[in-house]
Amino acid sequence: MSEPSRFDRGHTDDLMSFLAASPSPYHAVANAAERLEKAGFRQVAETDAWDGSSGGKYVLRGGAIVAWYVPEGTAPHTPFRIVGAHTDSPNLRVKPLPDTGAHGWRQVAVEIYGGPLLNSWLDRDLGLAGRLTLRDGSARLVNVARPLLRVPQLAIHLDRSVSAEGLKLDKQRHLQPVWGLGNDVRDGDLIAFLEEETGLAPGEVTGWDLMVHSVEPPAYLGRDEELVAGPRMDNLLSVHGGVAALTAVAADSRLSYIPVLAAFDHEENGSQSDTGADGPLLGSVLERSVFARGGSYEDRARAFAGTVCLSSDTGHAVHPNYAERHDPTHHPRVNGGPILKVNVNNRYATDGSGRAVFAAACERANVPFQSFVSNNSMPCGTTIGPITAARHGIRTVDIGVAILSMHSARELCGSDDPYLLANALVAFLEG
Ligand code: ZN
Repeated sequence: MSEPSRFDRGHTDDLMSFLAASPSPYHAVANAAERLEKAGFRQVAETDAWDGSSGGKYVLRGGAIVAWYVPEGTAPHTPFRIVGAHTDSPNLRVKPLPDTGAHGWRQVAVEIYGGPLLNSWLDRDLGLAGRLTLRDGSARLVNVARPLLRVPQLAIHLDRSVSAEGLKLDKQRHLQPVWGLGNDVRDGDLIAFLEEETGLAPGEVTGWDLMVHSVEPPAYLGRDEELVAGPRMDNLLSVHGGVAALTAVAADSRLSYIPVLAAFDHEENGSQSDTGADGPLLGSVLERSVFARGGSYEDRARAFAGTVCLSSDTGHAVHPNYAERHDPTHHPRVNGGPILKVNVNNRYATDGSGRAVFAAACERANVPFQSFVSNNSMPCGTTIGPITAARHGIRTVDIGVAILSMHSARELCGSDDPYLLANALVAFLEG
């Protein structure tokens, strides 16, 4: 068998295409599936009976995807090595009755999804994307990738307090985008527009999950292009790296684990859904894989007990203007390699034994890694890591890539970190 490929700056170019093509979780999993298909993976339906055949497989459910590769002759009790990530990002999402407006402006009513930096959505050219559900129950992806909407900021002349007191945004009143002019706003306008855009007959759409996105494409930035600016790095950077790593190790006959990618939806609002990390999706797929290969409950228990999950998500690089917000001795740097995230109160799942697993993978991949821990006076974020560990009893390690501007409509990472992460993920999945 050939050596799994190792990644370089070309991986970062590819990440930028993936980010641009994935304005919603539904697009992200469709793009992941397309890459898996090219690598020989095949979709299996949760409603079908599964067989114990070897090869690459994946399950798609809404905005989540679980993919795995079973080498020929794999024993049912073989443990898994999982890269975990999430497909969703904070943004503005369309309300059930979207058609609104005032004073001659046509507007779209939106809810706030997760915890976006609200100011970052102001004065941007925004597109609209997501999933349309049709009368026959099938789903259709939609992406209006041109400037369609804008959340216009109030002019400074009409808000003199903004300089002294900072910007204050009311989530209900100040974030409704405009999408044109007209006094004749009617219920159904927006969906009728999307039906027309996607070539569907009027009235065919009976459900929708729609969100706005910045249409500005990702770009290299900096004197030596050592940075990348773009949307949804949290956490499509990890989803993309996970897909690349899984397809790289697939067909490697030396694997002593079953490599898995699990990318969940709804991390940004707590993971409690049928496609979130706190749902049964991952456990169900892993169990069915064991049983389909003729395994017993004993085999399932043995497999889970030997399984390790790397929960990969973005973290905070040290910010030059706010260094005091970080722990004084833990200063992850951009392009310094992936970060290992630690929080003794289990906001992250990493412990010393998990650190050893990640350190060994990085050593095999010849990738440097850094440590992240929060300043004790700052609240610590969390990930799918602790949820995965607790829900499935799977040993889990939180890692990721250090970025700036997390939860902004346009985040900032290093040009090298995405491929350094992918190389570490390959070494981890190889075991
Ligand atoms: Zn995240």
